[in-house]
Formats: sequence, C-alpha cells, structure tokens
Amino acid sequence: MTTLVTLEDAKRQGLVRYFTGEPCKHGHVAERYVNGRQCVVCDREWNKASRQPNAPKAARVAREPVMASASKAYGFSEPKPWEWDGGKRREPVLDMDRHPPVAVRHVGWRCCMRCAKPFFSEDVKALRICDGCKGASTANLG
Ligand SMILES: [Zn+2]
Ligand SMILES: [Zn+2]
Repeated sequence: MTTLVTLEDAKRQGLVRYFTGEPCKHGHVAERYVNGRQCVVCDREWNKASRQPNAPKAARVAREPVMASASKAYGFSEPKPWEWDGGKRREPVLDMDRHPPVAVRHVGWRCCMRCAKPFFSEDVKALRICDGCKGASTANLG
C-alpha cells in the first residue's frame, strides 16, 4: 500500500521519493526519486546493468570497518614524528591494505652511526645514518 505523494509534497517534506500512481515510461507503477524523477524500479534495474560509480548509494564504503581512523593517505598509516626520547620508542608503519594490517617498517629516533647525532629515522632497521652523513657515506662507498 503506497500513498500518493506529489513531487511538490515530497519536496516540501524533504522526502527522497514521491509517488504519483502513474506508470513510468517503462510501465512501472512505483515510487520515483525527487532527485532525477526516475522510478525506483528503473533505477534499480539501471544500477544493476551499469554499475555507476556515481550512484547515490555508498554501500561499499559503509561496509569497510572504520578502524583506520589514522592517516589513511595511501593505505599506509604512518605515525607522526615525536620529540627526542633517547632513541627508545619505535612505532610501526602499517600497511592498511592488508587484513590485518602489517607493519612494513618502524620509525623512531636513533643516533647516526657516523656522527652519533640523533635523528628521526623513517626506517630504524635500514636507515641508520643521518641526512647530513648520508651524502658523504654514499660518496665514500663508491
Ligand atoms: Zn520504471
Ligand atoms: Zn650523521
């Protein structure tokens, strides 16, 4: 049982759909969307046939767990650099595209192997030399 709601009434009440009782051009006697005035049956069929990315539904997004509240720029959750802590603290950089997320590397403060100056390393395992010494070391390696 569907009650008749004119387009004007629907707009006034802020409804998404209205119902005139008249069939659409494809013969569906169904509700229609205020936005676009397409009948809901047509809309459903049409969505099924061609999965429009700009369809008003956000079903896929809604299904994603909202656990990645951290910076989820490019699937990596990277901790923000913090104040010098003596080189003890290590924070993982998580690959949020994996389920469950995998730590791809760890960031943290450490002392440069060359000049012993503390610096914030983007990868505490691989990056052990400060930026200042890095240029010199690569030059020396050759
Ligand atoms: Zn229709
Ligand atoms: Zn250094």
